[in-house]
This record gives sequence, structure tokens and C-alpha cells, in this order.
Amino acid sequence: MHLLECSLSSLRSWLSQHGEPDFRARQIWRWLYAARAERFDDMTDLPQSLRVALAEHWQIWTTRVAMHRRAPDGTEKLLLELHDGQRVECVLIRQRQRRTVCISTQVGCGMGCVFCASGLDGVVRNLTAGEIVEQMLRLVRLLDPNERLTHIVVMGMGEPLANVAQLLPALDRATDEQGLGISARRVTISTVGLPAGLRKLAAAGKQYHLAVSLHAADDVLRNRLVPINRNIGLRAVLSGVDEFFRRTGRRPTFEYVLLADVNDRPDDARRLVRLLSGRPTLLNVIPYNPVAGLPYRSPDRQSIERFLTIVRRGGINAQVRRRKGAEIDAACGQLRRMAAPAGSTP
Ligand code: SAH
Repeated sequence: MHLLECSLSSLRSWLSQHGEPDFRARQIWRWLYAARAERFDDMTDLPQSLRVALAEHWQIWTTRVAMHRRAPDGTEKLLLELHDGQRVECVLIRQRQRRTVCISTQVGCGMGCVFCASGLDGVVRNLTAGEIVEQMLRLVRLLDPNERLTHIVVMGMGEPLANVAQLLPALDRATDEQGLGISARRVTISTVGLPAGLRKLAAAGKQYHLAVSLHAADDVLRNRLVPINRNIGLRAVLSGVDEFFRRTGRRPTFEYVLLADVNDRPDDARRLVRLLSGRPTLLNVIPYNPVAGLPYRSPDRQSIERFLTIVRRGGINAQVRRRKGAEIDAACGQLRRMAAPAGSTP
């Protein structure tokens, strides 16, 4: 049994079946989520007999660190091997006072974005809530004792809203005072905008920040770049986003990966202005991080500036996202592909 899969109340009932008092559950959680314990033997205020019983029943870790890289800018990336041999990536980003973890929700991805390394082989499976939590805890253990986790971004491999059922309990653990204690407002969920998932997320009633991967301002181009869009369409994406805003009061961000000569032309910028104007939003422009074997390029600085000028003149609040960890292939899915044994599907 995976302990990180387990809610505080189910841990309590397991403990009471074993004749242990209620407060033990909180003690164990404090060791896992706050005190960065690695094993039950580190939990020094538990009776020895309980530590043995716990170790017999529960596994804290179900993944193995297959690779650990650290970039000069302090970004660290883990490639985790899951119990079934599948691999996922997760990243720790250090930026001034911020300590952000970027986590995956699926092995692979089914959205098919043509420029992204994660989805090239489709989706293999959803991660469990425990596997999502485990990424966060593994990354937190890379922090120095005086460093604290401040933000969580669900921007790793996979489409989070295709796995809401496992994502929400994992984020409950992250935002729980007894868990990692991160405020929901400091959790960002990045999605292509699946309407059913947006509705479920809005219904959860949490103050999560929503980031929507737009990448194109019309359906013809978006169908090409984000193929799942053929089943959805921009209109449904935007109405789902508007509903999320109405229900949560949280202003969404739109993400736009700039691909040279594909979606970075003045006309693209003007279409984007027409699509977003009147919406209380922030546009995150992300210069493409090239993926080996794919034909897309990042625009030069001039084209990026030209694009930004047009959208800003159009009244859109836009910023460029700085690249972190480029030296360690920190863009989604790149490490997993690289680390795959030759000739096999990762
Ligand atoms: N499936 C979700 C979350 C994962 S990716 C989504 O689509 O939002 C997080 C963001 O990184 C998305 O906006 C995605 O389009 C973008 N992205 C993927 N590959 C990239 C690359 N090589 N360079 C820059 N951004 C990339």
C-alpha cells in the first residue's frame, strides 16, 4: 500500500484498527510532508513497534530516481521510474525567493500538440494521486533545510484535466495545512482547456490559478498545433474558462508558445487581440524551447518584440516567460525521451 496515496482520515482508521491513538496520523503526516522524512525509522517520536508495523504495511516511495540533473541556474530535474517501469519528469525551479515544483499528471500525453516532446508517443496512463504527491515530496527533499516550497505548477507531462480525479486529491494533500500547506492561490494548473475538466475544476471550489495553453487565436491554426482542439474548438474552451472565472473569481492566464513563422506573425498577434480583448487576463508568451527531431524553431528577438508590441497595443496584458533550466532539457518530456533505451518506446 502506497502511503502517499492515503488520505489523513484513512491513515487514521488504519491506525485505530491497530490500536493506535488518533494523533499518530498527524505525527506521521508531519514527518512526511513537513519534516522531509525518508523512511519510517526517521520518525523518531513513534514507538519502535509502530515503525515496524508501518514498514510492513506501507510503502512511502514507489518510484526510483532514474536521473537527477542540476542546471547552473539552480533548476533541478528528476526523471522518476514508476513501479511499472514507466517514467515521468518533474522539476524544481529556483527563482529569487520562489521555490516552485513542476509536476506531471500522466505518462505521455494524449493531446497531440505537434511541437511538444511529451505527447509524441501518445498517452500511456494516468498517474495516481500518490504518484503525483510523490513527485512533490521528492522535489521538496532536494531543497536545502533553510529553503521552503512556495509554488506548485502542474505543467509537466500530461494533460491535468484529463486526470482530474487523481489530480484533485493530490492537490488537496498539497494545500492541506497538515500536508504541504501551500495556498491554493499558489498552485497553477496548465491545460489545453478541456471543457468537462474545467467544469469539474470550477466545481471543486478551490482558488487554483488556471493557465490555458492557447497557442493560436483561430481554430484552423489551433487544430493544427493542438490537435485535440478539433474535438473542442476555441469557443468551447473560452466559455469553459469564462465559467471558471465566474465561479472562482480567479483571473486566468493564457499561454502562447511562439513558434517561428508558424504563429508569430503580425496577423496572428492581431487575431489574438480580437480573441482576448475585453477579457481580464494575462498573456504569457513563451519562446519555443526546441525539441530534437521536431521542425519548429524559436523566433528571433525582433519577432518576439514585434508580437509583444502588437498585443500590448491591443490592450492585452502580456509578458514573456523566461526560460529556466534549458541546459538540462527541462522542457516537458525531453529528458524522458532522451533517457529511453535506444530503439524502445519510452
Ligand atoms: N497539457 C498541459 C500542461 C503541460 S505543458 C497544457 O497543454 O497546458 C505546459 C506548457 O508548456 C503548455 O503550454 C505547452 O504547450 C508548453 N510546451 C510544451 N512543449 C514546449 C516547448 N518545447 N517549448 C515551450 N513550451 C512548450
